[in-house]
Amino acid sequence: MIITVIGSGYVGLVSGTCFADFGHEVICVDKAEDKIEKLKNGEIPIYEPGLEELVASNVKAGRLSFTTELAEPVCKADVVFIAVGTPSRRGDGHADLSYVYAAAEEIASSLDGFTVVVTKSTVPVGTGDEVERIIRQTNPDADFEVVSNPEFLREGAAISDFKRPDRIVVGLSSERAKAVMTEVYRPLYLNHSPLLFTSRRTSELIKYAGNAFLAMKITFINEIADLSEAVGANVQDVARGIGLDNRIGSKFLNAGPGYGGSCFPKDTLALVKTAQDNSSPVRLIETTCSINDQRKRSMSKKVAAAVGGEVRGKKIAVLGLTFKPNTDDMRDSPALSIVQALQDKGADIHAYDPEGMEAAVELMDDVTFGSNAYEIAKDAHALVIVTEWDAFRVLDFGRLKEEMASPVLVDLRNIYGKDEVEKHGFSYTCIGRPDEE
Ligand code: NAD
Repeated sequence: MIITVIGSGYVGLVSGTCFADFGHEVICVDKAEDKIEKLKNGEIPIYEPGLEELVASNVKAGRLSFTTELAEPVCKADVVFIAVGTPSRRGDGHADLSYVYAAAEEIASSLDGFTVVVTKSTVPVGTGDEVERIIRQTNPDADFEVVSNPEFLREGAAISDFKRPDRIVVGLSSERAKAVMTEVYRPLYLNHSPLLFTSRRTSELIKYAGNAFLAMKITFINEIADLSEAVGANVQDVARGIGLDNRIGSKFLNAGPGYGGSCFPKDTLALVKTAQDNSSPVRLIETTCSINDQRKRSMSKKVAAAVGGEVRGKKIAVLGLTFKPNTDDMRDSPALSIVQALQDKGADIHAYDPEGMEAAVELMDDVTFGSNAYEIAKDAHALVIVTEWDAFRVLDFGRLKEEMASPVLVDLRNIYGKDEVEKHGFSYTCIGRPDEE
């Protein structure tokens, strides 16, 4: 099959590369010239473990190429995936579909022969109808079907998620498109990843309902963490105790500083907006969004309490800025809100992240960036772990104690135990484990 992918970001580049690895011929298109230039030179514009090697081997095999020009790759494609961004629209929280619609319009005039146009971007219910209308209006003679195929990969584990998905959801209406999509995913289907065919609207809603459920699960355990602190229970034991019940499941029950990232915040908000527009409000998700927003800022209170109640004039060292480990993605990272709240209280912030600092520099003002944990810890009044990178799991507390103005650790990811930290003379603050503080 010849597959063209429009948008070569976290989703488009990983999907395109994996499709090439399945044996398809793939052309990845992006309008960002610097991105395509890098890819042509064998450089990967994002940090995603394993991607560089996979891109290189598929380029070498002649199955994967990159371009800024959309017309020719669309013309010869059997399938065109739209994988452009759908950020929150400024002002009202609806998904901004301008990139999707612009891509649809650009694709339309180059379609040649029966082509399946797939929205892989996360898009609200009804977007497929509008993409279809745009293509039909721009090119009334085109022979095409618009299909929904949302992506469920997680940054940091994107390749294994794409190659071993729990399920593949495809929303369509014709046998012709079904045959094409079955062929596209045949290697995964043979590996027993269920291919779930639904209507297009149902498929669009599955993606939002899935993300909203996960965001709600995280928010649930975060509230149970607060309650654990109030009543003297241990949230990690509560999570284990409930997670062993198969009806609940153990994943997504790690209490922390609130969810962030390029998907959950914008997708939960977009679902709320879709629901309101359709007079069918999703109040659980509305509440989830507002609890999570407040939670991120409220983490600054934990830090303040750990340093005696006041952060004004104190140096706070922040470890980890990306929304989770193993990515360079800073979009809607909890660190942004936490740092801002600490700065609002008068703290002097020094920060380090293994992969996120290039993006962080653009998004954070008045932060001093260092090149490792020990450098930023020098003369700090507290060290705050915001993202649980592996490199932060074995800190040398003896060395940190010598560097810091006061030995205070605030562990917002619960990656340490009280005893192992306190034996080095540190005070320890964590989430939902009052017996360990
Ligand atoms: P991204 O910002 O990393 O990539 C989007 C790319 O599209 C950019 O490189 C941009 O230059 C390009 N682009 C925009 N308009 C274009 C056009 N007309 N022609 C060519 N290129 C164009 O975004 P992403 O994180 O890959 O997300 C893409 C979609 O996938 C979003 O809808 C997102 O919600 C969804 N999604 C993301 C993830 C994730 O973990 N990042 C997971 C599942 C689903």
